[in-house]
Amino acid sequence: MPGKSLLIIWPNWVNFATPKSERKPGMIDITLPDGSVRQYEKGTTSLDIAKSISEGLARKVLAASVNGQVWDASRPINDNATLQLLTWNDNDGKNTFWHSSAHLMAEAVEALFPGVKFWVGPPVENGFYYDMDLGDRKMSEEDLATLEKKMIELAKNNSAYQRKEITKNDAVKYFTEKGDQYKLDLLGGLNDGEITFYTQGNFTDLCRGPHIPNTSFIKAIKLTGIAGAYWKGDEKNKMLTRVYGVTFPSQKELDEYVTMLEEAKKRDHRKLGKELGIFTMDDDVGPGLVLWMPNGTIVIEELERLAKETELAAGYKRVVTPHIAKEALYITSGHLPYYQDSMYPPMELEGQKYYLKAMNCPHHHKIFAAEPRSYKDLPLRLAEYGTCYRYEQSGELFGLMRVRCLHMNDAHIYCTKDQFYDEFRAVNEMYLKYFRIFGIDKYVMRLSLHSKEKLGQKYVDEPELWIETEELVRDVLKKTNTPYVEVQDEAAFYGPKIDVQIWSAIGREFTLATNQVDFAQGRRFKLEYTTQDNKGETPLIIHRAPLGTHERFIGFLLEHYAGKFPMWLAPVQVKVLPISDKFLPYAESVSEKLKKADIRSEVDDRNEKIGKKIRDTELMKVPLMLVVGEKEMNENLVAVRRQGKGDQGTRSVDELISELSTEIKERKVPE
Ligand SMILES: [Zn+2]
Ligand SMILES: [Zn+2]
Repeated sequence: MPGKSLLIIWPNWVNFATPKSERKPGMIDITLPDGSVRQYEKGTTSLDIAKSISEGLARKVLAASVNGQVWDASRPINDNATLQLLTWNDNDGKNTFWHSSAHLMAEAVEALFPGVKFWVGPPVENGFYYDMDLGDRKMSEEDLATLEKKMIELAKNNSAYQRKEITKNDAVKYFTEKGDQYKLDLLGGLNDGEITFYTQGNFTDLCRGPHIPNTSFIKAIKLTGIAGAYWKGDEKNKMLTRVYGVTFPSQKELDEYVTMLEEAKKRDHRKLGKELGIFTMDDDVGPGLVLWMPNGTIVIEELERLAKETELAAGYKRVVTPHIAKEALYITSGHLPYYQDSMYPPMELEGQKYYLKAMNCPHHHKIFAAEPRSYKDLPLRLAEYGTCYRYEQSGELFGLMRVRCLHMNDAHIYCTKDQFYDEFRAVNEMYLKYFRIFGIDKYVMRLSLHSKEKLGQKYVDEPELWIETEELVRDVLKKTNTPYVEVQDEAAFYGPKIDVQIWSAIGREFTLATNQVDFAQGRRFKLEYTTQDNKGETPLIIHRAPLGTHERFIGFLLEHYAGKFPMWLAPVQVKVLPISDKFLPYAESVSEKLKKADIRSEVDDRNEKIGKKIRDTELMKVPLMLVVGEKEMNENLVAVRRQGKGDQGTRSVDELISELSTEIKERKVPE
């Protein structure tokens, strides 16, 4: 799409180019992510540039972001550009790798099933798929192994992914001869100047790209499944065959991935949630509506206690708002009619439509508006664990991760422009504090920025405010050494947005929450405070939810801890196990003492062997077991066992209480 990229290059050229007199003819300026500018010959490729930096880097380059657009690393660059080389560690690099693998798979399928027709083959969260029409033939699980072998063989051919611009006429001719009505359908929606073919080995595909330089980058392949998929997702259409796969740049990474999947299966939050009595769902209540069991409720209450303590110390004020509101509120906020599809349908009473709330913001804005506010009242920080309802398609619902009723660690900060930096910084520090408490070592903030060209359409038309707030946010992230990446043209309509991505202990990625700056809602709701010189001014608003929703966060924690909650969060903190019934009264007295010290303790009073009692307590993932028998009773002691660590020796109950109280109070991270 040469026309499109020129548009983006143009302002760049104006702003950053070396004056013509200083630049050698036939050379272009390439601006690297660290801000340095290097000169290269016109027509150089990202791969050439990588080689000029280091051969090692060049071996890892999968694609490149050229002026914010992902390109083939082997595509010539003809104008000044900002360049970011993309590797396996970048999402766009990984997606390019996986999408290119879909082409490789298609080549293998075509070799084994001649005459196959292809629809689309995108990258997905963990790998890729390709939808295909095999005619009368069927693909079996056994065929996958044959396909994998063929793919390995083809990958070794070291075939380049060759890009070719092609006219619509020629493209239509090619696929008419091939008899692929699916590609012809795709071509129907394309025009001359935007059609490209990519060829590797014996396979040519209609594709916008980009792709990796050649097939030899693909070193390890696992085809993960076959499914049926209606063409264009419409059940009236033909059912196509969808083949899923995942590929890696080395065997080691594939092995790690397989191990991670096995571990993730053991840590599945739906499985653990049932085994540990955390949550349940019931058809009579409805899909996506979580019933929190007693053990899950304890986890919820501990999380809320943490949030309340933290927010109180940070100067927040708590509020409580109803679960429903009149239609007019959501028309003011703009949720209606645009987000109507993700809200529950309205109920009507007294001639009015009422909606279940999908967000807490409008209610909080009304609390701001309830009293006259002056600059002295700001920043005003309103916090609520708010209950929201969202209509997710039933096919999209998934355990605690996608639900229809959610409890959000919500707050809105109303502040002046001058206060924004400190407020945003404090919010960021709160996130980091929580990461330490939960032992979340890997996290990235994705800072989504606006695009100058789309002001007034996709983005609120406040050019200076955008630049100013984006700069302030970036400054906070830099000064606090918070890992972050910038994404162009993905901000919210009303301000820059920070998506928080975290990784569980086994390396699976979760999107935790969004932290947003908002300069539009204040105006929509006519929120105002009086400035020092008695003028009316609209406050900036920060939306934040560092602990996300209970649903998603507890789902994450179940996987992260494999159900072994740290002491402070554990539903049952201590289980007292009498060796026989004879010691039951002593066990009860120990447990009572612990409970008086606010430690959640239970006695295993079943008539079972001690070995079985220990095993069952381990299975329930209770962090501490106290075994009591003759010696313990006579000397007023308890024998301590830690989950997964075995015998910890004996001590007095008072000693133990003091140890545990510290561990709980400090919310220690398990080692
Ligand atoms: Zn492609
Ligand atoms: Zn909000």
